[in-house]
Amino acid sequence: MNAPEFLGAASPLPPLSPHAQAGSAPRVSIPQSIRSAWTGGFADIAGDSAEPFCFPCDPTPIADCQWLAVSPGAAQLIGQDAAALVQSPEWLAVLSGGAVVDHMQPYAGVYAGHQFGVFVPRLGDGRALNLGAINGWELQLKGAGPTPYARFADGRAVLRSSIREFLCSEAMHSLGIPSTRALSLIISPSAVLRETVETAAVVCRLAPSFVRFGTFEYFSSRGRTDLLEVLVRHVAQWIATGAKPPRNEGPESVAVQTLDLLHEVARRTARLMAQWMGAGFMHGVMNTDNFSILGLTLDYGPFGFMDGFDAGHICNHSDHHGRYSYQAQPQVGMWNLGRLINALYPLVRDADRLREVLETYKACYAQEIDAILRAKLGLQALPQEEWSPLLDDFYTLLQRQHMDYTLSFRALSNGSEQAFIDLAPDREACRSWLARYGQAAKHSASLQQISGEERLTRMRRVNPKYVLRNWVAEEVIRAVRDHGDSRPFEEVLKLLQAPFDEHPGYELYAAPPPDWAEHLAVSCSS
Ligand code: AMP
Ligand code: MG
Repeated sequence: MNAPEFLGAASPLPPLSPHAQAGSAPRVSIPQSIRSAWTGGFADIAGDSAEPFCFPCDPTPIADCQWLAVSPGAAQLIGQDAAALVQSPEWLAVLSGGAVVDHMQPYAGVYAGHQFGVFVPRLGDGRALNLGAINGWELQLKGAGPTPYARFADGRAVLRSSIREFLCSEAMHSLGIPSTRALSLIISPSAVLRETVETAAVVCRLAPSFVRFGTFEYFSSRGRTDLLEVLVRHVAQWIATGAKPPRNEGPESVAVQTLDLLHEVARRTARLMAQWMGAGFMHGVMNTDNFSILGLTLDYGPFGFMDGFDAGHICNHSDHHGRYSYQAQPQVGMWNLGRLINALYPLVRDADRLREVLETYKACYAQEIDAILRAKLGLQALPQEEWSPLLDDFYTLLQRQHMDYTLSFRALSNGSEQAFIDLAPDREACRSWLARYGQAAKHSASLQQISGEERLTRMRRVNPKYVLRNWVAEEVIRAVRDHGDSRPFEEVLKLLQAPFDEHPGYELYAAPPPDWAEHLAVSCSS
């Protein structure tokens, strides 16, 4: 591994946006029991040196806010009951950016990042405001007004992208895929200008930490090795590797701790990429500033779930060259890890040992994707020499026949050959693969000593019936936006919170895109 590309090469940064302190939210009091649980979170990490990490900034209130949703599961994480929360005008004010909790100072975090391969020396939370943490969960508002890092943008988020973020965060969590959580979604009739005039919304999301790969890149590129070290120690609290804590505080212990952290980030990122691939999820904007150091799915923009299978599918309309296509994701995950390794080079200064981190990623990805796909096809015990060609031919079939990804696995999990065949235009092509698959299934089940029924039950636990298809999200958005009707939103949220269940009567939402949605395009505009 070469020396990092930009160590110490601190280029001048453009001035901050004049929006610093622009927010004017009033202070509100909340019950002492909640207030005493509320800490500064990330802002507390470095005591007096916190300032370089975050910039104090108040939200800018918007008019006529109302709840669209609160996630009961996410509310529980911060010790709240969702039903009580939606009754509270104080919570409505705080979670919409209409008020700030007395004695708390919201802040925007700074970070840099590689966007489509190009290093941008400063990005930062342009429209995200951190409110501090409760029970170890950071609360972050998205769309509550501009911050010093907003550059020339408005600090807002539109209804459509906020609905997508809320639903998909909760969907990913229910699929067992690590993700930031969505606590609340609040809407307002205030106008927001994008390609057309839209309306505003604010999502409050939760994570143990919102630190990104790009946070490390920022301090590295500024030559601030001291602050990189603070960040490593801060993040290490979530990274339980089983390694012995360093005994002293010398450079050797920092190097050990950094390497330890990198190996764990490699494992988490590899596992996340394998889970995305297994679920047919495409993030769409895998820039290093959108990569969580904790291996969470972060920053929902033009994401998508695979409908008809195409390994080269590009879900982001703005990604002209397919840098972030479905099949590119595992490689991009590794490339991003390479950027993080570069950023942390100054704390380790041992290229050989850093290179081993990439080996950890490769080995972990190979192991995870194999386990995931074997579970999805219910072929855990099939000998390798039978497994590899069967799997290759399965994906060739999906690709050639453009078969619906989610429904293909679900049909196999239901033991329904007919449902599987019905997904393909060329039924004969399916039949020959299915015959081999049937033999393999029997073989694997007998090696595992489980019944055929048990095998299918296990498959249905890993092959969802419901994912957030773009057309479903679009239907929900149109109902809320055009008709003020939140019923489809609530229905879809329920399905996504239990995606492996059948939910009789709701099959419609499991279906491939209808004709009107064949060419729906989602872009970075949000
Ligand atoms: P994203 O593509 O959402 O990950 O955003 C990339 C960068 O642009 C981040 O630094 C965001 O904070 C910033 N950004 C995106 N949209 C806005 C907006 N409407 N107002 C302010 N900053 C924004
Ligand atoms: Mg982002």
